[in-house]
Amino acid sequence: MIKTYRLELLNALRPQFTLLQKCRPTNNVDPIMLISMLPRIRSRCIRWRLGWFSGEIPKPCHCGATITKKHPIQCRHFHSHLSISFATTDDPLFFLLNRLPSQPPRARLCINCWKRSWPNICTLLLEMEYLQHPTHVEPTDTDTHDPFFLWIDRHAHFRPAPSSLPPSAHLM
Ligand SMILES: [Zn+2]
Repeated sequence: MIKTYRLELLNALRPQFTLLQKCRPTNNVDPIMLISMLPRIRSRCIRWRLGWFSGEIPKPCHCGATITKKHPIQCRHFHSHLSISFATTDDPLFFLLNRLPSQPPRARLCINCWKRSWPNICTLLLEMEYLQHPTHVEPTDTDTHDPFFLWIDRHAHFRPAPSSLPPSAHLM
């Protein structure tokens, strides 16, 4: 009953808020909060979600323009870095964050797709961090394993060899 009420409230509020319109139309916990990733990456994902990267006080971009929510997407060529067409969405980073799986995927195609996209997502978010906080110093990780890669590849490590699967299992 509470879940139904929250979903109705979400649907009622969506038309009024641009950020809500971009989010998934469900009231489940966002996978950003559940997926293994470095805390600073999670923080950046959340800040992008909430539209906080443009900041309260307008700051200049490297190009000289003032940073708005939309400006970096065009200026830093988000669409091309993330291989998302302009026809698909006006915010490719939001688009990909909306598609983060809530469970580690089993399909190799999906796993490979995220392995290609994740470093680009992290790079663009780091660029936003530098724009927002010019004095930011990115810490050097002592552990070279990105928790996200371990998480996204979880099932791949335990998948039985194809020859040991019955023929119908390849279709699943
Ligand atoms: Zn710019």
